[in-house]
Amino acid sequence: MSIYAKKSLGQNFLASEGALRKIVDAAKIRKDEIVLEIGPGKGVLTKELLGLGARVIAIEKDHRLIAPLQVTFENDIREKRFFLIEGDALDTPTPLSLIPKEESYKIVANIPYYITGNFLRSYLTLDQQPSTVVILVQKEVAERIVAKDKKESLLSISVKAYGEPKIVAKVPRGSFVPAPKVDSAILAIEKISKENFKSVSEEKFFSLLRKGFAHKRKLLSTNLGIKSDTLRQIGLNPSARAENLAIGDWRKIVESL
Ligand code: SAM
Repeated sequence: MSIYAKKSLGQNFLASEGALRKIVDAAKIRKDEIVLEIGPGKGVLTKELLGLGARVIAIEKDHRLIAPLQVTFENDIREKRFFLIEGDALDTPTPLSLIPKEESYKIVANIPYYITGNFLRSYLTLDQQPSTVVILVQKEVAERIVAKDKKESLLSISVKAYGEPKIVAKVPRGSFVPAPKVDSAILAIEKISKENFKSVSEEKFFSLLRKGFAHKRKLLSTNLGIKSDTLRQIGLNPSARAENLAIGDWRKIVESL
């Protein structure tokens, strides 16, 4: 039975061997490690991950894809190397209930693009964070996250607060069936931790960050309602805009206020 792709679930199935290889290479899969896959679809990426010896927990929202996945990966399910959950990946307690607290895990996925922002927020802020995330995202979103144009954004700093993002490769739209209207990129976020929040509160940090980016063209001091001298005193340019600041600068401001 052929299953038609549902646009509402962001279903663009990956059909490029080269892209699949680059995704799993970037994830540096080690035998027996736990990988959480979001939206396994018809299982092309799942097959690669299992082939490299990972233990895969996959969460798929489309009921129609569950039975075919159970048939394709019957042996892996029996051998307890593959656990398939029908559900919404944004409901994080569901997949996490299968990952022992003391075990580290990676997320490797071709996620539906409409959940990118929510996905990053939901998983990066968890107490039980993944150690690495390797995902396909819209090319422009990946470029904004790494600040390719050297201009930081609320999105880029929100990701860099937890890890180190890098673009692994571009993936043209023709690599998917059906082809989406945009090109994609493989984004890897490595060294994920809450190290940044040892000395500053996560809540204060994000509340300040949102204020700082509220009006992009205004000076940072205006957005934050502080004197430009306050910025000078902590070694920052008094006429800086939010987009000029790196993650460490934001931490300095939070610590100084
Ligand atoms: N991994 C497959 C591939 O690379 O061919 C499918 C990728 S497709 C872009 C996204 C998949 O995520 C679809 O199978 C879709 O049904 C599923 N999906 C969409 N929203 C989801 C959600 N909130 N939670 C879990 N899966 C979701």
